[in-house]
Amino acid sequence: MTTIVTGNCDMCRFTDCVTVCPMACFHGDERMLYINPVGCIDCGACLPVCPVRAIYEVKNLPADLRPWIAVNAEKSAALPRFTDRAQPLPGALERKKQLGF
Ligand code: SF4
Ligand code: SF4
Repeated sequence: MTTIVTGNCDMCRFTDCVTVCPMACFHGDERMLYINPVGCIDCGACLPVCPVRAIYEVKNLPADLRPWIAVNAEKSAALPRFTDRAQPLPGALERKKQLGF
C-alpha cells in the first residue's frame, strides 16, 4: 500500500505536502505533483496538510480514483523531485473554491 495524489491537485499545486514528507516522495510537472510509491513509507503526514484533499491512502481510495495509482507510479518515475514549497499555480485559489474548499 502507498499514498497517492489525485486529480484535485491538478492546477492547484499548493505544495504544502512537500514540506512535511520525510522521504522526499513528491515529483511534479507543470500541472500537479505525484508520489513515488517506492519511497513512500505511508506515514500519513501529507494527508491533512493538502488544502484540496487530493491525497489518499490507497486503501481508502474511492473506486473512481483508482487509475491514479498507475499515474503516480509512472509520472513520479519520470519527473523531477519537488522538495521545496513553491507558489501555487495561477488560478489555484479559484480552483480550490470550485472544488468546494
Ligand atoms: S498539497 Fe495537495 S494540492 Fe498541493 S501540491 Fe500537495 S497534493 Fe497537490
Ligand atoms: S505518506 Fe508520508 S512518506 Fe508518503 S508521501 Fe505522504 S508524507 Fe511522504
